[in-house]
Amino acid sequence: MTEARRTVDILVVGAGPAGMAAAVRARESGRGVLVLDDNPAPGGQIWRGGQEHSPSARASSWFAKMAASGAQVIAGARIVDGDAKRQCLTVEMPDSAFEVSYDKLILATGARELFLPFPGWTIPGVMGVGGLQALVKSGLPVTGKRIVVAGSGPLLLAAAAYFRAHGAIVPIVAEQAPVSRLAPFASRLAKHPGKLFQAAALRLALHRSRYRSSCWAIRASETERLESVQLQQHNRVWLEPCEYLAVAYGFISNVELAVLMQCQTGAAGVRVNDLQETSQNQIYCAGECTGIGGVDLSIIEGEIAGYAASGRDDLAGNLFKKRDKARQFAAALESAFALRDELRSLADAGTIICRCEDVTRERLEPMRSWRSAKLQTRCGMGPCQGRICGPILEFLLGLHPESVRPPVFPARVETLLRQEEETRPT
Ligand SMILES: Cc1cc2nc3c(=O)[nH]c(=O)nc-3n(C[C@H](O)[C@H](O)[C@H](O)COP(=O)(O)OP(=O)(O)OC[C@H]3O[C@@H](n4cnc5c(N)ncnc54)[C@H](O)[C@@H]3O)c2cc1C
Repeated sequence: MTEARRTVDILVVGAGPAGMAAAVRARESGRGVLVLDDNPAPGGQIWRGGQEHSPSARASSWFAKMAASGAQVIAGARIVDGDAKRQCLTVEMPDSAFEVSYDKLILATGARELFLPFPGWTIPGVMGVGGLQALVKSGLPVTGKRIVVAGSGPLLLAAAAYFRAHGAIVPIVAEQAPVSRLAPFASRLAKHPGKLFQAAALRLALHRSRYRSSCWAIRASETERLESVQLQQHNRVWLEPCEYLAVAYGFISNVELAVLMQCQTGAAGVRVNDLQETSQNQIYCAGECTGIGGVDLSIIEGEIAGYAASGRDDLAGNLFKKRDKARQFAAALESAFALRDELRSLADAGTIICRCEDVTRERLEPMRSWRSAKLQTRCGMGPCQGRICGPILEFLLGLHPESVRPPVFPARVETLLRQEEETRPT
């Protein structure tokens, strides 16, 4: 069991690259640090499952720094609520709950995949690219299985290479971006030799797979289990046999906790100043919850936030130039892989948009706001609380989620009651 109340100098939410970097720099600056993450081990999305599943030199170096830093890490800890005024968060563990008060809070809650619905996207065998990667990391055997990878962004290549390395056959990687945007992006990689090397290594690992631009999945075989996917490239449409379709159209920043803590957000994610400070006193934000930019940018932002939250603005300032360069790469990434309009019409009238509540597109079309969509169809009211269908509705129909209500993740009633007792005036 965990103690019911804790107090800490610096509380970091998220043990991905940004959270780890923030924790290490804050500890180096002499502050007490507690890191909370809902996964079973630190590492976030890219280094999921800890060091043994992430053999890169860079991952090893950050895991080693983290272990040596003396930062306390609690895995399997999900933040479900918070109160910016009282400077505390409510944390749910598998068998208990506790409150933690902080002097400074660093949110490094990362991002999740963006799914765009098309007929058949809910049948078994169709999964998120990162979701399937996570299953393989947890032991799902894919040797000899045919996996079609589709969607957009560099994650497609990284995941396809990962599936191949685990024995899968990846016949094709379907990228929606046109070659007219991919070619200039590829030539810009020359300015980022590390990325260029990574891209070349991935292409080499995938030399047996076709890579098609302006290509996307339009329909998954509507059988009980996936047998094939219909792909389209320009005017050509064909069936690609497969056992899995791994699909994702980039990422969405996880801003819900920041919004609950009343931090301002913009189109990209949580708004921060040069020192990664949010609009809320004592709250900093780093990594992909501030915008999608890849692991390099996440680490630098984490380091800046860790230094700044510890009062070492001088050390934080030394990293601004490095961050500017990483941000240029992020901007190039965003324009190269911007989503095309045709994707808005992939879902037909009968396609389910909200998987939790089985709400189809035709029921959502007449809605003029996210609120009326929720009230009239229950879209976004299921266990995912709009995490999956919210961004879809925004892309398809331009409906923006208006507010975030606690709990940010489904929580036990006991946890919520405990929190109410804590906040009740005595
Ligand atoms: C599914 C997925 C797969 C990816 N795979 C790759 C890949 O193969 N190669 C690659 O180069 N890049 C990959 N990326 C991109 C890469 O993860 C990012 O560039 C980078 O890891 C971002 O680091 P971060 O620290 O900002 O966030 P993340 O790594 O996302 O870490 C955020 C952490 O915060 C935790 N968290 C969020 N909310 C809460 C909460 N309320 N309570 C407790 N914990 C919380 C999350 O569980 C997560 O562990 C992937 C991204 C995603 C979403």
